[in-house]
Amino acid sequence: MSTESQSLLRLQEIDLELMRLKGQLDAMPQQKKLAAIKAAKKNLAGKMKVIIGKRKDAEIDLEDNEAAHQKTERRVSEVQSEAQGRAQDFRGVRDLEAHLTALAKQLEKLEFKHSELESNLEKLLKAEQNAIDLGKRLDEEQAAQQEAYERSSADLMARVRMLAAERKATLANISADVAQRYALASKRFGGLAVERLRGNMPTTCRVKLQQGIFGELMRGPIITECPYCHRMLVTEGALVDE
Ligand SMILES: [Zn+2]
Repeated sequence: MSTESQSLLRLQEIDLELMRLKGQLDAMPQQKKLAAIKAAKKNLAGKMKVIIGKRKDAEIDLEDNEAAHQKTERRVSEVQSEAQGRAQDFRGVRDLEAHLTALAKQLEKLEFKHSELESNLEKLLKAEQNAIDLGKRLDEEQAAQQEAYERSSADLMARVRMLAAERKATLANISADVAQRYALASKRFGGLAVERLRGNMPTTCRVKLQQGIFGELMRGPIITECPYCHRMLVTEGALVDE
């Protein structure tokens, strides 16, 4: 058998085994847990973004409140020194007192609001810390599951690596055109891309070829296409008993 058709058939065997191995690896219990952890981390990242946004807003609100408080306090001392600075008539004194009372009320309001804003910020900082802690726990759990997965899948992974190396070497014996046809057929037929001819019967679709078509195929290229199922068809060796 030619190196190319042999390599093509081997390539298919390798790929089918790689598919089986991937299925086995995906079915390992740690994979399910890893997928759940990944989903939890994504969910947490979304929540974290919201919490951080709110926390930053809360910090700004608190800063604004404190700035307003300082400004009001400055205003109070301004009004007070104004009052001391000049003699006031009765009306002037009354106005100043009213002004100071209003400012005092304003300060009270700002102080009340300040404690509200502070406890709001505290709550948000706590929520943020909880989210950070949960993220750390998820990271740890992920690392542990990944390690367990790698430990119990070591044999399968070793086989995958061996097959991957063999695949590369095998592919080197196949022309670019045949390799491309194989890639397309493999996708189309779920890995069962190539069949052989045994006598006048293809090995996968098993539809017996009519004599005329069989003769025509045998005179054509040794890697061709099955006229029935359109898989790649290796006609070489069809008449040799193996
Ligand atoms: Zn066929």
